[in-house]
Amino acid sequence: MSFLEYAPAPESKAVLNLKDSYGLFIDGEFVDGSGSSFATISPADESRIAEIASASDEDVDRAVAAARRAYEKTWSKMSGRDRGKYLFRIARLVQERARELAVAESLDNGKPIKESRDVDVPLVASWFFYYAGWADKLDHAGLGADPRALGVAGQIIPWNFPLLMLAWKVAPALAAGNTVVLKPAETTPLTALIFAEILQQADLPAGVVNIITGAGATGATLVRHPDVDKVAFTGSTGVGRDIARAVAGTNKKLTLELGGKAANIVFDDAPIDQAVEGIVNGIFFNQGHVCCAGSRLLVQESIHDEVIDRLKNRLSTLRLGDPLDKNTDIGAINSSAQLARIRELSDIGEAEGAERWTADCAIPDKGFWFAPTIFTGVEASHRIARDEVFGPVLSVLTFRTPAEAIAKANNTPYGLSAGIWSDKGSRILAVADRLRAGVIWANTFNRFDPSSPFGGYKESGYGREGGRQGLTAYLKGSAA
Ligand code: NAD
Repeated sequence: MSFLEYAPAPESKAVLNLKDSYGLFIDGEFVDGSGSSFATISPADESRIAEIASASDEDVDRAVAAARRAYEKTWSKMSGRDRGKYLFRIARLVQERARELAVAESLDNGKPIKESRDVDVPLVASWFFYYAGWADKLDHAGLGADPRALGVAGQIIPWNFPLLMLAWKVAPALAAGNTVVLKPAETTPLTALIFAEILQQADLPAGVVNIITGAGATGATLVRHPDVDKVAFTGSTGVGRDIARAVAGTNKKLTLELGGKAANIVFDDAPIDQAVEGIVNGIFFNQGHVCCAGSRLLVQESIHDEVIDRLKNRLSTLRLGDPLDKNTDIGAINSSAQLARIRELSDIGEAEGAERWTADCAIPDKGFWFAPTIFTGVEASHRIARDEVFGPVLSVLTFRTPAEAIAKANNTPYGLSAGIWSDKGSRILAVADRLRAGVIWANTFNRFDPSSPFGGYKESGYGREGGRQGLTAYLKGSAA
């Protein structure tokens, strides 16, 4: 092999110390569930990773009771300073076990190791560090007359950023003094279960965090449980609606982080090379399994052909394949169900008259894969311009004036995020002011920081996670 052909060996599963089967994490221990079980598989080759317990109604009840006991006896009695120490300890343990967590995440989710290693896991640690810093300042931060915890938080998360979504939920809840029952998504339970081991290592008092695995029915039981004070959900808009209905008329507080259909707006004065990188990162990062993905490219008509040519050239250099290979840019689609949805919406895009272009990638024999795809000539009425595909599929629309760009960007039931690419700061500010999106990036995309609140308008949900707003969502008597 010549020097030029050298490629580093794939990250090894040997760093993992996986069990063959996992129970539920209740009251500080792994316990057997009283329900059935299911296998979690690697989407890259469909191999079985481990057997996972499916929590029954009775198990949910046990977990909520443990969280209530821990809240009454320990966590609500502890000073913010002491709670903060646990959060710092968890953050450091996440850093210590970063390599293992990154490999487990890529194995279970299908995302490229360079993303789980360089983005997901470092952000997880930063979320715990950030909220650790809040814990001892609650009484002095002007958060309201009497900022007290809500009690038991029921938290339900999706499969696209399994450990990061856990961190977004668990870190502020604990800092504010709540205890937690968390349900990971059924296709990606692995890193939440390793996180449970980290909680044991950190000596977190029993019952402060409980992790119950299972499908949607387990989540629905948790939402309806009468002893849950707060429900925090990240997932699809459809399930978010069901949860809002289930919580209506109760005293439970609710935050919903739902779907998106973000516009990434590129003006003719934008730095084109940078914009092309931003478009690629905006929609192909994490195979497009990103709620805030820049799935609609709005490009000014005069530069459309140039941008599309450069985009196609760039996509031809991306490598699709083994998520554990450090050279991989595009990993596996998380499940066969998600792959079927991406295929269906893409076929509809073609049938409705948009022009389909697919990057020339070799698709592995086993597993769930979808090559980066661009649709040009997309009309606002097309399903691929309206529905969240949640996959590596970009819909391209054009505009002539800033007013047209704003109207098209806002022409969606969602309102989670948007991107603006322009050389003119005044234009960026003027356009940002008129976009109905919770997060707006300028000359960049998909940047996350624990100090920055994240959340949507309209059917993208309500409430904010991150920053001070993410903390007050777990407090009563607070100013926010
Ligand atoms: P999903 O709604 O199908 O599932 C999310 C979670 O809810 C899973 O844990 C699932 O088991 C659980 N669930 C399913 N039915 C339930 C019910 N009736 N009651 C309670 N829980 C239930 O979503 P998904 O397919 O896992 O995730 C993809 C969706 O998540 C996309 O729409 C994406 O945009 C959204 N998302 C949003 C954000 C955000 O911050 N706004 C972040 C990531 C993902």
